[in-house]
Amino acid sequence: MREDYGLTQDQIDIQMMTREFIRKELPWERIKECDEKNETPMDVVKKCAEMGLTSITLPESIGGGGMGQVTNSLVLEEIGYQDIGFATVIGACGLAYEPIALFGTQEQKEMFGKYIVDGGLAAFALTEADAGSDVSNNRTTAVLDGDEWVINGTKTFITNGGNASVYSVFAVTDPNAGTRGMSCFIVERDRAGVSIGSEEDKMGIRLSNTTEVLFDNVRIPAGHLVGKEGQGFKIAMSVFDITRPAGVGAASCGSMKSCIDKCLEYAAVRQTFGQPILTNQAIQFMIADMEIKYEAARALTYKVAGMIDNGVIDSALASAAKTFASDSAVECAIDAIQIYGGNGYSKEYPIEIILRNAKIGQLFEGTNQVQRMVIVKSLLKASGMM
Ligand SMILES: Cc1cc2nc3c(=O)[nH]c(=O)nc-3n(C[C@H](O)[C@H](O)[C@H](O)COP(=O)(O)OP(=O)(O)OC[C@H]3O[C@@H](n4cnc5c(N)ncnc54)[C@H](O)[C@@H]3O)c2cc1C
Repeated sequence: MREDYGLTQDQIDIQMMTREFIRKELPWERIKECDEKNETPMDVVKKCAEMGLTSITLPESIGGGGMGQVTNSLVLEEIGYQDIGFATVIGACGLAYEPIALFGTQEQKEMFGKYIVDGGLAAFALTEADAGSDVSNNRTTAVLDGDEWVINGTKTFITNGGNASVYSVFAVTDPNAGTRGMSCFIVERDRAGVSIGSEEDKMGIRLSNTTEVLFDNVRIPAGHLVGKEGQGFKIAMSVFDITRPAGVGAASCGSMKSCIDKCLEYAAVRQTFGQPILTNQAIQFMIADMEIKYEAARALTYKVAGMIDNGVIDSALASAAKTFASDSAVECAIDAIQIYGGNGYSKEYPIEIILRNAKIGQLFEGTNQVQRMVIVKSLLKASGMM
């Protein structure tokens, strides 16, 4: 990180500590093994939790790190450097907690936060089979029965779905109210009626567990409603304003830096025609383009993270950071494979996995088409055309 990002010594210390920790605890050989098995390394998750990485943005008053989104981005960039899938596991805790951070009561913060502070994982359950980009098509319902909500429905593609102790769950409370008919709830894993459905066998981020989560007449206290009834859509979008840059954007930056470092190292050693391939301008320029994209993506990501820490929310800029960083991460990974030649295409080298992992950034937390819709809407509004 360059001087002009204005990081405090504490932030630099956390960045360096995370770097040292993750490169030691999650070396390439372990990533390869977990990738093959489609398995989350829970021993490393446990150590992350002990170090406070899963609870870094939670308030200090409830045992969290009390850090902002710049620090969170530094952590997720360092973990993303090693593996975007593992960064997704750790980042999903902050994602799941964020509805409560923004709209929850003190009691809810303590209750939900305790699961994470005590070492558990959390999950954010919004998507359904027919409600991905079109979140308003949610079919999971929550009906008030006396002083309890009764939840029914199936969520799909839920990160940490099978490993979480607690979920933030979005469900329809008024089917006639469109986006104003959805609400957000806290649901503990051990409630009767909560079960885990099928696990996704994914192309990438295979260190993260992605499952269906089923709710069959799950009863939760009325007090588990987060914010007000009907605020669910607003809550989800407010969360994404933070996690798109400070989660997806940051992890994508880490992946780009990893491509640059690996390509420099490989190209200096790999020889063709009696010379290291790094002596060719064609190779140098590809690495230079990676560096340009990396620095630009990082500048946008940390600018937005810094704005969030200063209380300024800009949805369009958040979407721009996520989109630019994740599109650039895919481009860098494709070029990295090119520089590695045939070896880049082989599972024996730690390059093809970077591409498989980077692709997710263009898809989750709203596809990059959806981000572009957010950006254009903001431009139209600003110009008075909407
Ligand atoms: C590995 C993984 C982990 C995930 N983790 C979570 C999680 O933890 N919690 C959670 O709630 N969800 C999670 N998701 C879900 C994810 O956010 C959705 O998959 C994503 O929002 C896209 O929705 P969809 O898959 O239904 O695609 P669709 O909505 O079916 O979109 C298909 C294609 O159509 C395009 N498209 C759709 N509408 C438009 C339009 N109006 N204009 C232009 N193009 C359009 C999309 O951009 C996309 O290219 C995860 C997904 C994956 C793959």
